[in-house]
Amino acid sequence: MSNNEKVIKTVAKTSKIEASKKRTFVGACAGMFMGLYKKACSVLFPANIKCIICGDDLKDVQSIEICDKCKCKLNQIAENQACACCGAPVVGEAKLCLNCKSEPRDFDISRSVFVYEDEIAKLIAGLKFNNKPYISRTLGRYLANLYKELGWEVDLIVPVPMTEARKKWRGYNQAELLAQEVSDAINIDINTETLVKIKETDEQKELSLNERRKNLRQAFKVIDKYPIKGKRILLIDDVMTTGSTADACAMALKKAHASRVFVLTIAHGQMQLALQSGINNDNSK
Ligand SMILES: [Zn+2]
Ligand SMILES: [Zn+2]
Repeated sequence: MSNNEKVIKTVAKTSKIEASKKRTFVGACAGMFMGLYKKACSVLFPANIKCIICGDDLKDVQSIEICDKCKCKLNQIAENQACACCGAPVVGEAKLCLNCKSEPRDFDISRSVFVYEDEIAKLIAGLKFNNKPYISRTLGRYLANLYKELGWEVDLIVPVPMTEARKKWRGYNQAELLAQEVSDAINIDINTETLVKIKETDEQKELSLNERRKNLRQAFKVIDKYPIKGKRILLIDDVMTTGSTADACAMALKKAHASRVFVLTIAHGQMQLALQSGINNDNSK
């Protein structure tokens, strides 16, 4: 190797180290910011001593802010009722739901805690549309508990992003709040910067299924591959219906060389409902 080559190699190595230091610094700042944000949240939204569903008094402050009576009414998806791939509630002996049967997924596996109905649907609506970010505390706990039950092993948590404009309008990204709760509970880092949504996908009703998929795939992008490369990613969202959003995010993450993409959501729309009415909550970000 010539001296010139040696110099070039050393310079490249140094700039790589510098870039990595910069990233660590940015990461530390983001961590510090999240810490401050959480403190502000706990002041603005103190732990409930009332059930977030019925409003009854709870005996004490607890991590799941739902009373025993309301907990019994929630419809959790048991492992033996879930589509082996996307976690949709399936009836009968079927191992895979119709969507997963018809074509392969970009994510590796997905699970949801609840069926998307009744009280859970109302809680998610409260979190998304009624400015009740504190609901993410309890729902995030359910996600963390399910993660532990499943025995998955991941390296990094990534929430499904929303566009900057949408986040500004809502004041927060509910998937990010949920992901932060999971991160705190299972002690795995969260990255909210590298996977981004660059265009809105609300107006999709007129599009065919294929056009919708294409539109979604163009909406998500990884802007820095470094934190993703070789990592097992846990993608977090509030609701899964067809799974197209999770697929689009997983595709972007895998393009950035994520080794695996696991998905966790609070609720899964019932498959027969999704097929009949063509609703797609995945697009109501
Ligand atoms: Zn209650
Ligand atoms: Zn499925």
